[in-house]
Amino acid sequence: MRSVFVKTFGCQMNEYDSEKIFALLSADHRPVSSAEEADFVFVNTCSVREKGEHKLFSLLGRLRDLKESKPNLVVGVGGCVAQQEGKNIIKRAPSVDFVVGTHNLSLVPSLLDSAKNGVTGQVAVDYRDEWEELPEELDSYSPLKQGEDGKLDSSFGVFYSPVRAMVAIQRGCNKNCSFCVVPTTRGPEVSRSFSEIEREIKHKVAIGAREVMLLGQTVNSWGRDLQPRSSFEELVKRISEIDKLERIRFTSPHPAEVRPGFIDLYATNPKLCPSIHMPLQSGSNRLLKEMNRNYKVERYLEIVDQVREVRPDIAISTDIIVGFPGETEDDFEQTMEVIEKVRYQLIYSFVYSPRPNTVALDKYGSETEPNREVAGARLCRLQARASEIAGEINSKRVGQQSTLLIEKIDKKSNGQQLIRGRSPENVAVEVDLSGSSELSKVNSKDHPVEGSLLGYRVTSASPHGLYGETL
Ligand code: SF4
Repeated sequence: MRSVFVKTFGCQMNEYDSEKIFALLSADHRPVSSAEEADFVFVNTCSVREKGEHKLFSLLGRLRDLKESKPNLVVGVGGCVAQQEGKNIIKRAPSVDFVVGTHNLSLVPSLLDSAKNGVTGQVAVDYRDEWEELPEELDSYSPLKQGEDGKLDSSFGVFYSPVRAMVAIQRGCNKNCSFCVVPTTRGPEVSRSFSEIEREIKHKVAIGAREVMLLGQTVNSWGRDLQPRSSFEELVKRISEIDKLERIRFTSPHPAEVRPGFIDLYATNPKLCPSIHMPLQSGSNRLLKEMNRNYKVERYLEIVDQVREVRPDIAISTDIIVGFPGETEDDFEQTMEVIEKVRYQLIYSFVYSPRPNTVALDKYGSETEPNREVAGARLCRLQARASEIAGEINSKRVGQQSTLLIEKIDKKSNGQQLIRGRSPENVAVEVDLSGSSELSKVNSKDHPVEGSLLGYRVTSASPHGLYGETL
């Protein structure tokens, strides 16, 4: 059997695509955890920030050196940079054997075969209007069947856990935010059919998944392009009827697409976890307009109030861009004010990165105010406050009881057992079984297993997670 190493940059959609690559190759490839061990290296790229491209070409430089000692090594590049740059990648890094776009994953096995037969410089980056479905049997691909010791090796860096499945429900985006490259690299929005989504979730539940993360760029606009038209709310309702599926999450809803039925989901659906990732991007209405986000801060805060009214325990996370062209001190202070009002569980924050084929780059160029130093200082301030708030939120949970979905049980050589998982609010939780009655059940059928739910009490907290004991 040959070996494959996949290096994934970027978002969960890329992780999901990497999972598909493993599945496509699973008949004759086993995953390994480094390029040095591999016969085939696939780099799944991200172009949302410029840094992603730098990381790609630095990795390709290392792979070129590796190829000198392993001439049969095949290197493929996929993902958003591949879609955007196409043959330019091969011009710049001739050691790359093929480039494959975001709509052409199914071609990877044949591109790989041709590369092994000496074909060089292959580029497949055509757009497809329809959803690219992969063979049905791939839905039941499980890394657990692949690992040599029967276990998932997390160093593959793809699956967050076999018990937490990712399932794409949508591809592309119609929003055209002025800073974003996704509409260029992933194309216009296309909803996947309900039957395909259901099929994949059912397969994943059958092999152990208990939680599903529905993926899409604006998940809550799912279904409007389908015939007959459907809705995201209807999709979640029907998915929640799947037996043995305990938890549903999704990422990311767009604030401009939130309708009353969306709020009702949180009020009525017990499988929908009390967590929501809703990108803010900026707390300044002036900048939101420049970003073409199509909502105002007031509307965003209204949605926050509405979901909190029906789910007071909900944890809210977000994305924020600092240093968008023309961001003034006052704009930034307005963002900080929103952070104080919402009190996010988690903020993914970045300095603005000018990207090719975006309105913002055309309008402002790559030299922008505020300069990098000012933007960097603002980012540090924002991140420090975000961490304080997360710590305060988690500290208030000390003493509370909750339930975690067990993703991993670490058995240490000293007999200690640590259970790792996530709370309903999507906070990482670690429970030490030492001294608990659960420990005495080791090897018995009552011992907690991966994929089961475990009740715990929070004993301590940090900004990044919770620590607990069994009930
Ligand atoms: S909603 Fe905006 S930021 Fe999100 S993927 Fe679409 S264009 Fe990009």
